[in-house]
Amino acid sequence: MNSLTRALKTINLEMPDRVPVDLHSFAVAAYSTGKPFGEVFKNGKLMAEAQLKLWERFGHDVILLENGTTAMAEAMGCMVAYPDDIPPKVVEPALKRLEDVEKLTLPDPGSTATLPQLLIATRRVVEELGQEVFIMGRADQGPFSLAALVRGIDNFLLDLALGTQKELIHQLLEVCTQAVIRLALAQLEAGAHGTSIGDSLAGPSLISPAMYMEYAFPYEKKVVEAVKTAGGIVALHICGDTTAIVDKMVETGAQILEIDEKTDLLKARSASQGKCCLLGQVSPTALRNEPPAEIERLARRAIEIAGLNGGLILGPGCAMAADTPAANIEALVKTARIYGQYENTLGGRANAV
Ligand SMILES: [Zn+2]
Repeated sequence: MNSLTRALKTINLEMPDRVPVDLHSFAVAAYSTGKPFGEVFKNGKLMAEAQLKLWERFGHDVILLENGTTAMAEAMGCMVAYPDDIPPKVVEPALKRLEDVEKLTLPDPGSTATLPQLLIATRRVVEELGQEVFIMGRADQGPFSLAALVRGIDNFLLDLALGTQKELIHQLLEVCTQAVIRLALAQLEAGAHGTSIGDSLAGPSLISPAMYMEYAFPYEKKVVEAVKTAGGIVALHICGDTTAIVDKMVETGAQILEIDEKTDLLKARSASQGKCCLLGQVSPTALRNEPPAEIERLARRAIEIAGLNGGLILGPGCAMAADTPAANIEALVKTARIYGQYENTLGGRANAV
């Protein structure tokens, strides 16, 4: 069974031969080139070559392609800085006043800012490995997080807290939703087997579950529905502890939920069982700082809690730090390969939980 089949079976909640493994590795890939990060993140060819080299080294089953969290925000008019050794960041939001939402235009993924480079990276990796590996071309941020970047995170949180301009807030979220859908569909057209949105600012570490339901959930659901209507697979990523909203994340209909390290994996597993697949949740901090034996322990723990009956892609809970040691990435991949075998290692225990 090759990586593509293994990942597809897992996503379709069928039994693969073993637990597949994903690397959330855009920063690791950029770091491995030795070039300034900005040069890599603005160049689809360089992003693709760096990811292909990582794959040659680690042989993971899922390749996640992205250039950070700012691609769509920049395409919608935010000013973005590209430091040499950390991921890009928004330094000036596009919307000084919420009223200016009328002036926002929908970016063309084929021609605006770095969006075409993301598609070039996807096409190149698909050309090379599309028959063999599951390629996830990220559609950048989810609608809530994108709206927060476009408006400025502090301004947006204040808009939400005041709650006096709800109509404009929803108008902004709607424009962001349409922008995300365009990129998600463009990723599928570029050949990606699946796409993914990071709606990290919509988690309980920043907003309440009630606010999530009002301002994030309906728009995430729209993106999921658009991707599924186009016949695609979509993953939803929210950083931090999402235990309080994980049942709602399942209700978005996303086929994959990316689960960060602080989330109660057992609760995520019971909420998602029979409905969608989980991706996670090995700590990126541990991946950077702990020895390989600890990574193996964390990976086995994730498999035992969430993967005994399939439905788990083993991976980091969030993006790995650029300088994550190769030995730890190897330990992650190896644990899935050896310990994650369903016929042998896990076989007798599958239906016991
Ligand atoms: Zn994250």
